[in-house]
Amino acid sequence: MSSRIYLSSPHMGTLERGYVDDAFASNWIAPLGPHVDAFQEEFARCVGTPHALALSSGTAALHLALQLVGVGPGDDVLVSTLTFSASVNPIRYLGACPVFIDSERTSWNMDPALLEEELAMRARLGRLPRAVVVVHLYGQSADLDPLMAACDRYGVPVVEDAAEALGSTYKGRTPGTVGRVGIYSFNGNKILTTSGGGMLVSADGELVQHALKLATQARDTAPHYQHSEVGYNYRMSNVLAAIGRGQLHVLEDRVAARRANHAFYAEAFRDLPGIQFMPEAPWGRHTRWLTTLTIDPEAFGADREAVRVALERENIEARPVWKPMHLQPVFANFERRRGSVAEDLFRHGLCLPSGSNLTRQELERVVEVVRAVPRKQGLRTAG
Ligand SMILES: *Cc1c(COP(=O)(O)O)cnc(C)c1O
Repeated sequence: MSSRIYLSSPHMGTLERGYVDDAFASNWIAPLGPHVDAFQEEFARCVGTPHALALSSGTAALHLALQLVGVGPGDDVLVSTLTFSASVNPIRYLGACPVFIDSERTSWNMDPALLEEELAMRARLGRLPRAVVVVHLYGQSADLDPLMAACDRYGVPVVEDAAEALGSTYKGRTPGTVGRVGIYSFNGNKILTTSGGGMLVSADGELVQHALKLATQARDTAPHYQHSEVGYNYRMSNVLAAIGRGQLHVLEDRVAARRANHAFYAEAFRDLPGIQFMPEAPWGRHTRWLTTLTIDPEAFGADREAVRVALERENIEARPVWKPMHLQPVFANFERRRGSVAEDLFRHGLCLPSGSNLTRQELERVVEVVRAVPRKQGLRTAG
């Protein structure tokens, strides 16, 4: 059997090893250290924000972000329903209640009109949420201007979950740097990886200082160990920050490679009926972190699941689009506003292998399998 093709696998550049060797040579094998400081500064410059804090994961970053904008027990937090569960779990860590908002079809991200409607209704009832979590899915920014305008109108802080969107743009800015706080992830499948890690960014230096303190067991400034708040152990290690510094150098290459994958698939499936790629919205650059498409079973001659199973049979990893959070058993008891767009994208959506290290032959293998599915399905129903 041919070797496995993964959805999105780590892709090291040429400088990571040198930075890691330096961490070893200097014996900075610790959480904290010169690579952590440098990674934070270089990352902040890269995305265009004054302050960045390197953390152990994107989930940890989101947990701190939500706490620092004031989310606590019993609060409501509005969040995109079409996302990964890590966008929502930290809301629950804080004892707050997620309210799931449907997507629009241009970017697959939170629908600004629906958000505005929900906030207006809640303002009338005196039940404004403590925060709104805007997620930027699959390498593309949500439509931030109207989302920010709606939240500003009611004084609700925006936390941006840009875990999947590093390298994308929104009208020349980087998603994650527009709201009150933003977070990124360096998990193994993301566009850049430190094997595991995250970053919190904000223009508010005091907020980031406080996040740093909470992430370091909330030590007060005193020579002895003194604590007046409950803290966490959420900092990134100097060794992993060394990997991150190397990865930052190749961000533009990684975006170009992922966009080239998408262009290859788009060209290869141009003549296939019933296949539609996730649109690239007019407001910025989609990194195509994952190439995602929807399959209309009537027109294509096979459904999403048949395509996924056919790929798996050939040792190729493909995944359905995120199952909406309002359909997850763990969040079944929480409110939602509509959800049919997210449900439709889940039912018909598929993510294709999208790594920046895929070879031409691997892409061709994927294309060949996908193209053969309707024919095989036809034979099966005929037989
Ligand atoms: C990956 C991801 C996260 C979590 O990041 P980790 O670093 O894995 O904790 C959060 N939100 C979204 C949308 C993600 O894709």
